[in-house]
Amino acid sequence: MGPLTLIAHLLMSLQIATRFATLGGMFSPSQPSRPAVEDKLTSLRRLDKSRAWNSLDDQLYCTICKTIISGRQIEVVGGTNGLRALHLKCSTPGCFSTPADWLLPVKSDTVREIDILFRDNGA
Ligand SMILES: [Zn+2]
Repeated sequence: MGPLTLIAHLLMSLQIATRFATLGGMFSPSQPSRPAVEDKLTSLRRLDKSRAWNSLDDQLYCTICKTIISGRQIEVVGGTNGLRALHLKCSTPGCFSTPADWLLPVKSDTVREIDILFRDNGA
């Protein structure tokens, strides 16, 4: 290997390094580290289409841990680097319920209807 070949090799690796640096700069994430309140409400609406989600204060009854939870308490988990799909999680530790396990608050007319459907006597 002559000295010219060595220089050529050095230049080539330098070019490759520069190219990688450029790519890294292009793909560096520019998203905010913490999702805003509006983003969470958007996520709730997108991931739980069975409810209207007028605000983060909308309350739900989790039938798994028997707890009233609000949209504010529900955790939006996953979605890091786009490798895992985003999903909603009950705030109670150890509760693995899904949005399908959550009912609307008792004061809602819709829940009264659901309640009637669940009860045999319809009272
Ligand atoms: Zn729960």
